[in-house]
Amino acid sequence: MKFNPADNIQDLQYFGEFGGVNPSISDSSTYTFLSAKTMFDTFEGNADGCYLYSRHSSPSNLYLGQALAAMEGTETANVTASGMGAITAVLLQLCGAGDHIISSRTIYGGTYAFLKNFTPRFSVATSFLDITNLASVENAITKNTKVLYCESVSNPLLEVADIEALSKLAKKHNLTLVVDNTFSPLSIAPAKLGADVVIHSLTKFINGSSDTVGGVICGTQEFINDLRNVNDGAAMLFGSTMDSLRASSILKNLRTLHIRMKQHSANAMYLAKAFQNIGLKTVYPGLTSHPSHEQFSKMMNSDYGFGGMLTIDVGSLEKANELMELMQQRNLGYLAVSLGFYKTLFSAPGSSTSSEIPEDEQAEMGLTDGLIRFSIGLDNNIERTFKDMKKCMQEVGVLPQNVTI
Ligand code: PLP
Repeated sequence: MKFNPADNIQDLQYFGEFGGVNPSISDSSTYTFLSAKTMFDTFEGNADGCYLYSRHSSPSNLYLGQALAAMEGTETANVTASGMGAITAVLLQLCGAGDHIISSRTIYGGTYAFLKNFTPRFSVATSFLDITNLASVENAITKNTKVLYCESVSNPLLEVADIEALSKLAKKHNLTLVVDNTFSPLSIAPAKLGADVVIHSLTKFINGSSDTVGGVICGTQEFINDLRNVNDGAAMLFGSTMDSLRASSILKNLRTLHIRMKQHSANAMYLAKAFQNIGLKTVYPGLTSHPSHEQFSKMMNSDYGFGGMLTIDVGSLEKANELMELMQQRNLGYLAVSLGFYKTLFSAPGSSTSSEIPEDEQAEMGLTDGLIRFSIGLDNNIERTFKDMKKCMQEVGVLPQNVTI
């Protein structure tokens, strides 16, 4: 039977302590033991089903982790306080002094900054490459390489990674393939394509209400146990633990993710086609003009579409800023970073979420000044939204007055 992440989430059944339809929220940082021996065994990692301390795990965090593991098709998962909390813990769990990481050069600015500026302090080096060029990825592998890192669909350029091919490379050279799937939940299931570890910033589509930050690491039981190890586990020792109250709130939002993703994707497809038709330089993996359209189509679960993210290039930062300010005034979306909200969000990544990347490197990877990244919302009438956006584009001179559709 076809792997369907939304069905897998739906098949889970949790009741609250008093038969509630939602699981009870664990409102404790610490847990009692009936015997001192069990407490000792739990510290040693040998007391399944016992809770020790909520930085280690809590019932609410485990419920959410189980649901996300079901979604990604991994053995288990560990939720974290933010997406960066997941990324930093995974990379420093897998790498130590002298190790080398190969990363896609188009990744979220915070991840880029961590690998470029922070991990070298611990003598962990990173090569940033065009991840779609498999030959250059293989050429860059050295005896010290431990991790291949990419985003399924990259932030902000929407490059698409060939996860199956990267997984083959990783297996051949004994590397761990870590994939950040934040931009394509449900549509792409990286672990099913061979990724060893799948990360999400839950802050985005998965939670979907822009009211919290959160993250998750999906992987094998062995890897998640390592991360939680009280002696040397990065998740346990860095302490970027999700609060139980938040975990229960994200779990409730996760239940509507499949409906939201369908609407985000349908709206983004409509706008991408319409933007392209009126002559705007538009990037969206669902367009046949996207260089990796075929690749995305091959990997995707078609029920959920090509996702809610698209970019247009309006030529200059000044025009981009003018257009975004006007669209916000007309209530067509918000000039804000982040993604996955019910409302369309737009920002110019070169001067915001990717500003950690030096200008010359931005130019090399094709991140231009006039690029606007859109996270398309759940608008009920996307045709009306398009017409109003087109008017804004005409008013700021991004489009000629006489353009018709
Ligand atoms: N991964 C991607 C692709 C992102 O876009 C972001 C944030 O924008 C992150 C990770 C970091 O997540 P968080 O802000 O939840 O720490």
